[in-house]
Amino acid sequence: MGRAVIDQLDDAARRVVEAARYLHDRGLTHGSTGNVSVRVGELVVVTPTGLSLRTLTAADLAVVDLNGTRRSGRTPSKEAVLHAAVYRARPRANAVIHTHSVWSTAVSCLRDIDEDDALPSLTAYYRMRVGVLPIVPFYPPGAPELAAHAGRVAARAHCMLLRNHGPIVAGDDLDHALDVLEELEHTARLRLLLDGRPIVPVPAQAAPRLSDPHIDPPQEA
Ligand SMILES: [Zn+2]
Repeated sequence: MGRAVIDQLDDAARRVVEAARYLHDRGLTHGSTGNVSVRVGELVVVTPTGLSLRTLTAADLAVVDLNGTRRSGRTPSKEAVLHAAVYRARPRANAVIHTHSVWSTAVSCLRDIDEDDALPSLTAYYRMRVGVLPIVPFYPPGAPELAAHAGRVAARAHCMLLRNHGPIVAGDDLDHALDVLEELEHTARLRLLLDGRPIVPVPAQAAPRLSDPHIDPPQEA
């Protein structure tokens, strides 16, 4: 491994630790849940298994390849395969975040939601940052089937909800992924605050004016 790659991996590790701390401090993760990764070429720096994002240091991180196989560092999160599947499906993605954030996870447990788009566009920012939110059916965490299914969905959406589990978001970089994840969590909370009341979403005809350069144009599945 060349010096330049090692420097890039070190830089990615610093950013992963920063983002992990931020997620914990904002109450978006609890216990040892949640995982964060940054892509460096064909490698991915990812948070390890069994550690709280609160106490994480750069020395605790793992490096995996795009199949999720450990290449160096600590034992990766068992959800690293999920991150790898998203990177394979989205060549432009350079950061992935997965949490068990409470409001988004609550929505992932609702029976009567649209599996192709789980939340209405309640605000213009949600429309711009998230857009469409498909549901991935339930599989046990770390199951190869979960990663395979999420990878197929990731080919057409940069964020999704895993059934009875939580959100996963891909971004151009970590700041973008954090932004999208927080917007998703905020809107999930709004949706549940409004539960049982009639809702007016952002008008569909406004959609073309609310496009975000980060979001790929809609593609046929
Ligand atoms: Zn999880």
